Amino acid sequence: MNIIPKLAGVCGWPIHHSLSPVLHNYWLKQAGIAGAYIPFAVSPEDAIDAFRALKRTSIMGVNVTLPLKGQAFQAGDIATDDAQKLGVANCLYKSKGQLVAHNTDMEGFAAPLLERMGANQLQNGSALVIGAGGASRAVLGALLSLGVPEICLTNRTDAKAEDLVSQVDVPSLYAVPWAQREIAVARADLIINASAAGMAGKRALDISLADARSNALIYDLIYTPRVTPLMKEAESRGLQTLGGLEMLIAQARPSFRLFYGQLPPAEADPTEILFDALRTGIR
Ligand code: NAP
Repeated sequence: MNIIPKLAGVCGWPIHHSLSPVLHNYWLKQAGIAGAYIPFAVSPEDAIDAFRALKRTSIMGVNVTLPLKGQAFQAGDIATDDAQKLGVANCLYKSKGQLVAHNTDMEGFAAPLLERMGANQLQNGSALVIGAGGASRAVLGALLSLGVPEICLTNRTDAKAEDLVSQVDVPSLYAVPWAQREIAVARADLIINASAAGMAGKRALDISLADARSNALIYDLIYTPRVTPLMKEAESRGLQTLGGLEMLIAQARPSFRLFYGQLPPAEADPTEILFDALRTGIR
């Protein structure tokens, strides 16, 4: 009997750096599924046509990374609620002959947070979000869905935080000027770095945690390095931390299910193979 392998992949421009193939191919092997997950370089000008052509192939679906998430959203015949909330898609899959644009970033951000803090604590606390780019939108969407009652947003360029706050337009979310970021640190139970500051090769985030609450959780979305300068400072002050790799893994799990028909095996923890791939550069 011939077994037809199930194919999926990740599209970006460039794409060679993506960790998603390491993650999904590891899960495929652990689950014993005959399949493969392949990186595809897709040029931004051709992306919408390339995505629409998925319906004419045997590819089950694709994840989509920078800078193609807007085109992925446009290419879908329909969009899920999570994709509509963000206006961008990181996952395209086929259902009943239609191409569905979906976004797993909010779920990916929320899952490790819920495990660590619990819904009750989140619904009775306040959050500070640092950064006003694409990741920040997913973070805000997730925090609002989780019912966090007070959310401050601060960004190095104040105007971008103010813009994002007025786009989202809910009373529980407000912008704090960058100059007052440390006042906001002192008021937050949850501090999220959704900025690029602190990534390997970039400057550390210019925020002191000296006045942070002793029970505050510091969630840094960055996963290279594994322990960011912000997380190091938090640890030295006895604060709890959560790193970005948990989010990376948690946003991939629902995509895996959509492409291959089942969740990755619960006992298959890809953390170490991902760090090996980051350390060696081998994908
Ligand atoms: P983006 O759209 O390019 O936004 C970058 C943000 O970082 C902007 O708000 C920018 O502020 C801020 N920033 C850059 N350098 C800074 C500095 N030195 N000091 C203070 N702020 C600085 O990027 P993104 O897509 O939102 O991604 C942001 C981070 O999240 C990246 O590090 C990415 O790796 C991480 N991320 C992780 C996951 C995960 O699964 N763990 C998923 C998505 C993203 P300005 O507006 O002032 O330029």
